[in-house]
Amino acid sequence: MPREREITRNRNIGIMAHVDAGKTTCAERILFLAGRIRSKGEVHHGNAAFDFHPIEQKKGITIKAAATTITWKQHVFTLVDTPGHVDFTIEVERSLRVLDGAIFVLDGASGVECQSETVFRQAAHHEVPCIAFVNKMDKPGADFDACLHDIEEKLAIRAVPVQMPYTVGGTLDGRLTVVDVLTRELVVESDGGRKVERRPLPEDAKEAVERMRLRVFTAAADFDETVMNAFCDRQDPSADELATALRKGVLARKILVVTCGAALDDIGIGPLLDAVATYLPSPEERRPCDEKAPLAALVFKSTHDRMAGLVTWLRVYSGTLHSGDPVIVMPRRVRERVGRIFIPDVDGRLAVESVGAGSIVCATGLDGVRTGETIADPKAPLSLDAIRIPDPVVSVVIEPKTAQDRDRLGPALAKIVACDPSLRARVDEESGQTVLSGMGKLHLDIQVDLLATDYGVAVTTGKPAVAYRETIGREAIATYRHKKQSGGVGQFAVVTLSVKPGERGSGVTFVDATKGGVVPKDFVPGALRGILDAAERGVFTGHPVVDVVVELTDGEAHVKDSSAIAFEIAASYAFREAVRSAGLVVLEPVAFVEIVAPEAHTGDVLGELASRRAQVRDVAPREGRGLVTIRAKVPIATTFDFVPRLRAITHGRGEASTQPQGYDVAPNDVARALLEKA
Ligand code: GDP
Repeated sequence: MPREREITRNRNIGIMAHVDAGKTTCAERILFLAGRIRSKGEVHHGNAAFDFHPIEQKKGITIKAAATTITWKQHVFTLVDTPGHVDFTIEVERSLRVLDGAIFVLDGASGVECQSETVFRQAAHHEVPCIAFVNKMDKPGADFDACLHDIEEKLAIRAVPVQMPYTVGGTLDGRLTVVDVLTRELVVESDGGRKVERRPLPEDAKEAVERMRLRVFTAAADFDETVMNAFCDRQDPSADELATALRKGVLARKILVVTCGAALDDIGIGPLLDAVATYLPSPEERRPCDEKAPLAALVFKSTHDRMAGLVTWLRVYSGTLHSGDPVIVMPRRVRERVGRIFIPDVDGRLAVESVGAGSIVCATGLDGVRTGETIADPKAPLSLDAIRIPDPVVSVVIEPKTAQDRDRLGPALAKIVACDPSLRARVDEESGQTVLSGMGKLHLDIQVDLLATDYGVAVTTGKPAVAYRETIGREAIATYRHKKQSGGVGQFAVVTLSVKPGERGSGVTFVDATKGGVVPKDFVPGALRGILDAAERGVFTGHPVVDVVVELTDGEAHVKDSSAIAFEIAASYAFREAVRSAGLVVLEPVAFVEIVAPEAHTGDVLGELASRRAQVRDVAPREGRGLVTIRAKVPIATTFDFVPRLRAITHGRGEASTQPQGYDVAPNDVARALLEKA
């Protein structure tokens, strides 16, 4: 489908939002309006088209990025669904990597929430141009102006409202209507948004619309000379002139064009899609798309399909992908052959023979390929830069229920881990137990459910545990002499090294500061291996040592008896001695948590946070809404049962979102408990 069309009319877009802002509803209404689905499922009833996995339906959240292609007024949009839950930021990151533009959905009554800030920063990092959709404008408490203000303050970007909400008589009894600020028209929608009538503005709307239009006008003038001249000459620019100017601002990521509506009532969805076509870029406007160049396609997701087996989701960056072609998987240089290629669709995928640069498709037959890898032309094997994958912070022990489950567990876990690189599975050497690690408790809960639903493996899980780290609080130095003589060639190496506290998040930094070849260059990699291996195993508690700068300062070698192995052993002992004399500091993973709760329960929530060792950053009442926002930093170890507890103390009205924030020093009693366990 996309190949026959001009690439300038293609849009690869994602929908990003804070959990509950209405992303799923929006996606579903978009599919409905574009004729992709015939009936609208209610999201909370768990049958929306985008919540395509049974688990997603059960939990009422969208976890896996699915993509689907729609046509809208001579344009082809590929919608890549991005997960909203923060535990899955890696998935968001992966989808952002392959998008050319994004719709940023906000809840009109809550504005920009902390997760939205995170997702917006991620989009900025990938330089993805965005437009905003302020949803739920039908809700009591929805405040469009407050949202614009919130965007400018929290996202530090200029908000440009090309639409605004209007209700007859300014009350919620009148039906909500979208105003096109550029044309000064009411956009009256009916029949689920399929019928649109443009009407002149009612008297009582004119003044407010003019104010908004002036705001749009001044923003547009910054990006276009025609509009600037019109501004100076006090002329009224046309809607097209304004849109052309604003488009430049959006592509440069200098402004956030803001639209609005109420997805649940099918209001503003058509105008939103028009805005996607008008303001967001085609693949070619983001980077060159040469269909004749050698093939390079990035695997941004793998899913498992009961019928088709492994489904590989690809963004073709250059060249053309043909079904049946031999390809090379980079950077591992494994040979594979492309099976069938499909244009992603909601129900039943459309098979095609080939697709060109700029497309997002899925393919079968690429069973040995992992997320983050590049599928390339074997004659020009190129590796597209991989996606950054954070280390898991939470793990659980998994026990198969029956002998049959035990046999199936290993292969099933291998497949799950291949689909999601932010997961790790391992068998503990000492206990023989299977340990699954991921980005949060919910992330792991979902995998356990997947084991049952997709692979028929029933398991029980232990208590979740966080990934602690060891580090040091001061500098220390140590020397180790490794000498063994047992007939024949002996082993000899002397290593002196210093350890110093490093920056938080820096891991292990190694510096070779030896002079005059006291440690021959050939043996330095051996020494480094010894240090890294010892750091990984931990010195005091069995948790890896991080954030240290290790300097190899001196050493001794023997002409005959020294080797890389000898230096590996000596360096490993020297490192352990140095860390031991520097003393243990335990690091624990922490999260940033934002809570919204009724103001009356502020004290209870603060008390609950205090009992969880939280550091409260601020407590901010939300004007006129009877709600309060509390922001705090909390050790992840204390958050596992936080949400149910919050719900209980706020009678179901409190909500929280958490975002991992790296590591902080843990208090002494945590360190003591870990030492005792070790
Ligand atoms: P997601 O978590 O961002 O995918 O959000 P959902 O689409 O699941 O929506 C969250 C909740 O908000 C659901 O209960 C929806 O019915 C509701 N919702 C979505 N859009 C609107 C809207 O326009 N107005 C109102 N009042 N509620 C909405």
